[in-house]
Amino acid sequence: MRDDAVKFSFQLQATDRAARTGVIETPRGEVRTPAFMPVGTAATVKAMLPESVRATGADILLGNTYHLMLRPTAERIDRLGGLHRFMNWERPILTDSGGFQVMSLAGLRKLTEEGVTFKSHIDGSRHELTPERSMEIQRLLGSDIVMCFDECPALPATEAQVAESMRLSMRWAARSKAAFGDRPGHALFGIMQGGVTPELREESAKALCEIGFDGYAVGGLAVGEGQEAMFGVLDYAPGFLPPDKPRYLMGVGKPDDIVGAVKRGIDMMDCVLPSRSGRTGQVFTRHGQLNIKNARHQDDPRPIDDQCTCPACRNYSRAYLHHVFRSQEIISSMLLTWHNLHYYQDIMQGMRDAIAAGRFADWEAAFHAGREQGDIERL
Ligand SMILES: [Zn+2]
Repeated sequence: MRDDAVKFSFQLQATDRAARTGVIETPRGEVRTPAFMPVGTAATVKAMLPESVRATGADILLGNTYHLMLRPTAERIDRLGGLHRFMNWERPILTDSGGFQVMSLAGLRKLTEEGVTFKSHIDGSRHELTPERSMEIQRLLGSDIVMCFDECPALPATEAQVAESMRLSMRWAARSKAAFGDRPGHALFGIMQGGVTPELREESAKALCEIGFDGYAVGGLAVGEGQEAMFGVLDYAPGFLPPDKPRYLMGVGKPDDIVGAVKRGIDMMDCVLPSRSGRTGQVFTRHGQLNIKNARHQDDPRPIDDQCTCPACRNYSRAYLHHVFRSQEIISSMLLTWHNLHYYQDIMQGMRDAIAAGRFADWEAAFHAGREQGDIERL
């Protein structure tokens, strides 16, 4: 699988208005875009074997620097041959910088120009993350796509606070680039900040482009601002970024968020939603969302979706899935996670095909029509 001759690259293959489809090439394989990345927080996509994740159509996974640096530690993963070998996933891995999760999970944070010190949410131990340390951890993990260390201001924030935070993140982006160095076959992505202010988004994009990155994330969204505000930013922000580099929207989202983001020029996304929902009985389908624990499913011999080709739909009834969820059987998390990830990858394949064929608008209309129809009639 390793081929040192293959460099990291991105080929845009077709566009349909703002929507794009292409291929990211890495030494560990291709990533078809638009791409959805399942989240493997603690070196596992919960309830799934890596080969099962691959079978859903995923080309790339996301790993969380914050979680892995605390447990089992990046140094231990490095000694054991890197994250790919450790978790038995040979294909590309993107790691976040740890910054966002320090803000959302860790206790007693202290932010300075140098970086952030915090207490672990696991055992209260003290840690420091700086741009340089984040780059070191992501190198030890063996990540294929490394994210710059940035700061995401807590909401609500004033425009002045957002501007100050964005400028700090841009200084950290320059330090991240310097610390990343020259690593052929590995990519470093910059992260645009600037909240919901177009001038700040433009300033941030210019600062990042001056430094120069292999790809660019639109940061500071999907943090509770709502879909309308997020789409409002995505209506213009991707246009500030170079068209020949991949664009990544972090932490998104629900199926309609994903479709709306791709429509506005986003190439990559990740979210815990399909896997986390699978463990709580929430199921995503062409007809919207259903809750398998609802009593209406207990005598229903039909599959979740008769057109879905995942193992949960091919081999099991709603009645069975309802039963194993109610009985708290482990297979419930396994099957529902598989179905949700399969559905998400189906959406991505549908969008890639539609963009390539120049019929994204038709595909999008059918996507929304299916959801409006709602779940099948109860028996
Ligand atoms: Zn299914």
